[in-house]
Amino acid sequence: MSECAYVNVAEIFGEDVFNDAVMQARLPKKVYKELQETIREGKELSIEVADVVAHEMKEWAIEKGATHFTHWFQPLTGVTAEKHDAFISAPMENGKVLMSFSGKELIKGEPDASSFPSGGLRATFEARGYTAWDCTSPAFVRHDAAGGILCIPTAFCSYTGEALDQKTPLLRSMEAINAQALRFLRLFGNTTSRRVIPSVGAEQEYFLIDREKWLKRKDLTYTGRTLFGAMPPKGQEMDDHYFGAVRQKVGAYMKEVNEELWRLGVTAKTQHNEVAPAQHELAPIFMQANIATDHNQIIMRVLKTVASRHGLRCLLHEKPFAGINGSGKHNNWSLTTDDGINLLDPGKTPHENIQFLLVLICILKAADVHGDLLRASAADVGNDHRLGGNEAPPAILSVFLGEQLEDVLEQLIHTGTATSSKKGGKLLTGVRTLPDLNKDATDRNRTSPFAFTGNKFEFRMVGSQDSIALCNVVLNTITAEVFREVCDRLEGAPDLELAIHDLIKEFATEHQRIVFNGNGYSKEWEEEAKRRGLPDLPSMVDAIPALTSEKAVRLFESFGVFTRAELESRAEIQYETYAKAINVEARTMIDMASKQFIPAVIHYITRLADSAKTVQAVTGEADVSVQVELLKKCSRLLAEMQTALKELEKLTAQAASMEEGRNRAIFYREQIIPAMEALRSPVDQLEMIVDKEMWPVPSYGDLIFDL
Ligand code: ADP
Ligand code: MG
Repeated sequence: MSECAYVNVAEIFGEDVFNDAVMQARLPKKVYKELQETIREGKELSIEVADVVAHEMKEWAIEKGATHFTHWFQPLTGVTAEKHDAFISAPMENGKVLMSFSGKELIKGEPDASSFPSGGLRATFEARGYTAWDCTSPAFVRHDAAGGILCIPTAFCSYTGEALDQKTPLLRSMEAINAQALRFLRLFGNTTSRRVIPSVGAEQEYFLIDREKWLKRKDLTYTGRTLFGAMPPKGQEMDDHYFGAVRQKVGAYMKEVNEELWRLGVTAKTQHNEVAPAQHELAPIFMQANIATDHNQIIMRVLKTVASRHGLRCLLHEKPFAGINGSGKHNNWSLTTDDGINLLDPGKTPHENIQFLLVLICILKAADVHGDLLRASAADVGNDHRLGGNEAPPAILSVFLGEQLEDVLEQLIHTGTATSSKKGGKLLTGVRTLPDLNKDATDRNRTSPFAFTGNKFEFRMVGSQDSIALCNVVLNTITAEVFREVCDRLEGAPDLELAIHDLIKEFATEHQRIVFNGNGYSKEWEEEAKRRGLPDLPSMVDAIPALTSEKAVRLFESFGVFTRAELESRAEIQYETYAKAINVEARTMIDMASKQFIPAVIHYITRLADSAKTVQAVTGEADVSVQVELLKKCSRLLAEMQTALKELEKLTAQAASMEEGRNRAIFYREQIIPAMEALRSPVDQLEMIVDKEMWPVPSYGDLIFDL
């Protein structure tokens, strides 16, 4: 693809997707109709219909250059998985082959599941796992060095039907919220909407660096982040990168990323430079939650593959560099009906406004009751450097509503009625005791982990390399739970208006503590949150138990989203993931310190000593105090490095002998991480002293200011 070729976006958009237009054009009318019923209403697909769909899908894919198909799924590894099968069948007598792809191959796959994390769900003797076509997310042909691959989005389950992936619970949670939200809408007299779908738009942050430099740093290549590195003289303090002009090299990269995404039907919409040098963002237009989740995986993959074609490396880690901002993923979430009503949009009529207010208060309650779960849904090893580190957002879950809505809450709670709204441009609620709402009165608050932003909630805790599936599973299910309670209480109420009013007041009073509009980074907020009794779960290890609390098990089991066993297995996988990731980091540090930094420092010290000796030998009297001072300082730091290295080696050996599980994860957090910090400190100090020519790895400055 040449850099200056211009494309017609409307023409290329979705050209590699087996989308509705393609289906309509290629499938017999009856088959198309049946498939639509499956997609829209979840009706079971007959094998006859699947056979016809598979045949047409294969013909189409081959026209697009596909040689293989794959069931594309999202196991609990954090990345997608696939096994490619060529369309060829056994050779015929004449030695030629035919291309084949059956309905059975389309709807069901049987990858060997034994090497994917299952957290004990799947005994090793029962290695089978099944992938099942998620026909609500369209198939697509992906082109890369491996050729054209027809990717079929699937869910991944064990032999006994337990979810082994991100997708299955997400689809289940979408059913849960659909059922309860429809009940909720019926309460307000809506008889026309047939489905309520969670809409999601995930903003993706990433770093771009030079690939040659990336290759020179084992920490980046093995762990995705730098484990050593002194701050350059300039960081992000000048605020000159954010929304700044995109450099040409990056621009060429973004252009190709966009074009690939558009071809794959991903609505890449917004791009800009982010706060930190070398940091950027890409946001698509929102989609229904499962498609948005798939698209986010596609986005991450395209960001990486296109980078390597441009001599670049895309870093998706949450914290590639200490001392400058890390990367996250803002998960914008709302609830939309099939006929276009956004439940989080303060409407135009009084009737819509009261409904909106109740929806809002329900979500407030859900976030308060299950704040720990929301936090846990964003738990990811790299994300510990953001949440609970000194940057956005904090690890304490709170909700930002904006000045106007908070004022409404206050009035409701303190006087029982709220009759005025702080700002002008009112919308009437039509209920005597409720205030009039101003449509666009929400401010921006960048420090809040969960902010209402006009017609959607923005959940900002998710890590940049993590899947957005789990946070949406949680958002959907906890909201379904409160909707269910509301419907149970309001259905059949003699005076609905009064009952709604009482409920809003009750929920607002009980859950006001979760609302916080101030600065979420401040120490004061940490203390205030403690007074309010909000959970503060700074690390992943602290957050994981929320998945298996009795409250969580009750919630998820009552909606059939997760069984207790599935939750326990997920918690187990997370502890193990944590321990393994930190272990790789510790071992990488050991490797770099012993093979790169210690030899480099010894080399430098030797040169200093030689220099001092030579100077004195030649002059007999010259001042070599600089050499001596540096020698002393370097030797002291070198010794400190060696001591820290020994300690880290000892602790990692100890950890290796521990049994897998929570205790080992805690050991990594409490013992290994401090030991890693102790090793980093002398190395970073030495980097500031040792001759740059002798330093074995590119510096922070080289990495982030050089594109
Ligand atoms: P920002 O938060 O950076 O100002 P936008 O408001 O443009 O950005 O939206 C960010 C993301 O939110 C985009 O992916 C956008 O498509 C998505 N979004 C907008 N409206 C909704 C909605 N109703 N539900 C879910 N996502 C939405
Ligand atoms: Mg945003």
